[in-house]
Amino acid sequence: MEEWRDTTTLDQLFESIKDCRRCSLAQNRTNLVLGAGDERAEIMFVGEAPGFHEDKQGEPFVGPAGKLLDQLLNSIGLDRKQVYIANTLKCRPPENRDPTPEELKTCTPFLYKQIELINPRIICTLGNHATKILLKTSTGITQLHGKLVRKGTLTFVPLFHPAAALHKPPLKSVLIDDFQKLKELLKEEKSRWEEEKQASEEPLGEEDAQPEQMGLF
Ligand code: URA
Repeated sequence: MEEWRDTTTLDQLFESIKDCRRCSLAQNRTNLVLGAGDERAEIMFVGEAPGFHEDKQGEPFVGPAGKLLDQLLNSIGLDRKQVYIANTLKCRPPENRDPTPEELKTCTPFLYKQIELINPRIICTLGNHATKILLKTSTGITQLHGKLVRKGTLTFVPLFHPAAALHKPPLKSVLIDDFQKLKELLKEEKSRWEEEKQASEEPLGEEDAQPEQMGLF
């Protein structure tokens, strides 16, 4: 029943949960939508839940909001195959209603497993739901968008949801600007990891080595 915890690839994870019946969303779904993209992606995007098109096709963000996400990715020289895209819930809520706390409690362990397997450098939460759940905060997206937030070992950049930008055109230009920020933040993160990696690979100097040697006596 809980064998999904021991899976070591996203394909295995999908196989072990695709017939999930842990909550009532299973009754009306066409497909469980785990996610799509590069298993080794540096950036992961997390939306809210599959909608009509996603449920039918079994892929995240393939409707109008997905088209905008594709354009935003292209604007920073990326496409959806180079990132990983997932949702907080894996099954479509009826009439696209908000996820319930119970559904989130049941489903987010799968999201954390995905994060563990992908180990992305940056997780972009799309909209209020994903932001509040993953950052464990009550602060809204209006305050947090476009900023890098570290939480434990994870690094987040909250962004407005593309669907919100489709409904409120002024948000679209904010989202476009935030993607440019994201490009810069990823560059900065990459140089930080490079520095950390180099520091951890440097041979110990005499001073560093001494205490350990002295400890032998
Ligand atoms: N909105 C989401 O939050 N996720 C999708 O996959 C599609 C639309």
